[in-house]
Amino acid sequence: MRVHIVPCGDKYARKHHAKTIEKLVPREEIILFENDEKFTSTLKDDAYACWGVTNAKNNSNFKNWQTMQKDDICIMYRDKTFFSCGKITAKFKNKEFSEYLWGSKEDGQLWENMFLIDEIKEINVSLEVLKKVMGYKEKFFIQGYTAFDNESSEKIVAAFQIPFFEKSFNDTALKVEIERREKMWMEIQKIQNIRPLTAEEVRSIGCYGSARGIWRDIKNTSDITPSGKGVCVGISSRGKYEDDFGEETGTYDYPKTEMRGQDSADIESLRSAMQFKLPIFLIRNANEKGELINSGKRRKVDKVFVLYDSPEDNSIVITFSEGGKDDYEIPIEEEDTFQEREISVKTTKSKKRSQEVFRKKLLKRIGPKHCVLCDALPEVIEAAHIRPVKDNGGDQSGNGIWLCRNHHSLFDLNKWSIDPKYLEIIPNNQNSLNSLQIMRSNIRHLKYPPSKEALEWRWKKFNKDQDMN
Ligand SMILES: [Zn+2]
Repeated sequence: MRVHIVPCGDKYARKHHAKTIEKLVPREEIILFENDEKFTSTLKDDAYACWGVTNAKNNSNFKNWQTMQKDDICIMYRDKTFFSCGKITAKFKNKEFSEYLWGSKEDGQLWENMFLIDEIKEINVSLEVLKKVMGYKEKFFIQGYTAFDNESSEKIVAAFQIPFFEKSFNDTALKVEIERREKMWMEIQKIQNIRPLTAEEVRSIGCYGSARGIWRDIKNTSDITPSGKGVCVGISSRGKYEDDFGEETGTYDYPKTEMRGQDSADIESLRSAMQFKLPIFLIRNANEKGELINSGKRRKVDKVFVLYDSPEDNSIVITFSEGGKDDYEIPIEEEDTFQEREISVKTTKSKKRSQEVFRKKLLKRIGPKHCVLCDALPEVIEAAHIRPVKDNGGDQSGNGIWLCRNHHSLFDLNKWSIDPKYLEIIPNNQNSLNSLQIMRSNIRHLKYPPSKEALEWRWKKFNKDQDMN
């Protein structure tokens, strides 16, 4: 599987996108120009998204296009953002058809290296992510249509969190693995309903078999991913991370050992588990009664899912929720500028929220936990919603700030607020910054302050409340 990145920002591409991606090309039109029956019989849909690239200088586009195969992934790019992805279902070279659809370029070139795209999904990934995952220099920019080799493609798919395509990967191997894990879980429960498992049982069932903290089981899972690095099966926390697991979600740190190649393969395997929505097994130490302890001979095994990847603090968020990632509402935002589409959420949504994911998003936007108003210790710092959840506030990073418990409570009691224009901290009529123990008079020190929309909402509420008193 290869990833093909297609720039879509120039005047031609924008027109083409509106014409043959947003609006689809009817099958009849395709058949009119491409009438080889072997090909037309594969066209099952009424209409397709269609794209084409020119041969370009030295045939560079054409050479890239030649590597294209069915089930490759096409990612569209403009304004420093990768904004959509889709599965390539067919390709063909057809000058006439391309001219019919899009005309020709000023210099006479045609977009004759054509392909059809299916299952187009919206994504929102900044160029920074590609630079990071590929190790490109700061100055890097996308110069033209680019095809990546298998290994890079897989890294990109994982880092971009490209949604799952039905037939992009080894479907059979994935199905086999889903069943295998289901059987393992049944075996675990059979024992665990009576007593905690032993370390030997954990290994013989197959949910853990490493000394590294992360168990990939290359023998059973390498066929699922083209890189052959496998998909994480089990993680062991051995007491080290115990405090970070709540009732429903928890944080698990990336491995950090002397073997850096192994570490990065392990991390990739966690991302793959997230991408394929495969459950993983969390193994923790327990005593004879099955209670969690720091070091014990017994094991408590839980079935969990990877919910969120947080490279900022080298960790992932896992959830015990049965539906995994699908159970959650995780807002999308532009990471370049941290612009949000909307900071409110619709009340009809039945999906769950994760405070843990909200914290990770804040970490990414404003950095480590530190009350924006005082120097309280990190242990008492909380992620505060500016537009509260009860008032339909969302979990976008722009709707949050770090506050200590004290200032969080005072914020929610409307004892102070933030002037959205100058980002000044304004106490209510009965108080001063001093009486509220506020050490900073503004939040202009934040590189990415909260979203204007959120601040304005809160400011309005604060003033209304003041008027009433
Ligand atoms: Zn504080």
